[in-house]
Amino acid sequence: MTEGLAMYAYRCGMCRSTSPQVHTRAAATQERYRHRKEFHGGYVPDGEKIIEPERFNFFDLPREQLIGGTILIAVLVIAATFRLL
Ligand SMILES: [Zn+2]
Repeated sequence: MTEGLAMYAYRCGMCRSTSPQVHTRAAATQERYRHRKEFHGGYVPDGEKIIEPERFNFFDLPREQLIGGTILIAVLVIAATFRLL
């Protein structure tokens, strides 16, 4: 997957093919519509899907960033707590 860019694609299970990647879900939906019309006479092919980019997960970060991020959040929470007191 290309880093930093959210990419979508349309996958047709019947044709066993995947569209080129696009930047928006709307563009992938448009590709789905075009594919259904052109290759399946407007019918919905079995096993079709929109491939979405994986959502950001904090725990997928590299270890040093995970530790750094946790310390940063802890410092901000502590600082905010003492400021309120
Ligand atoms: Zn198809």
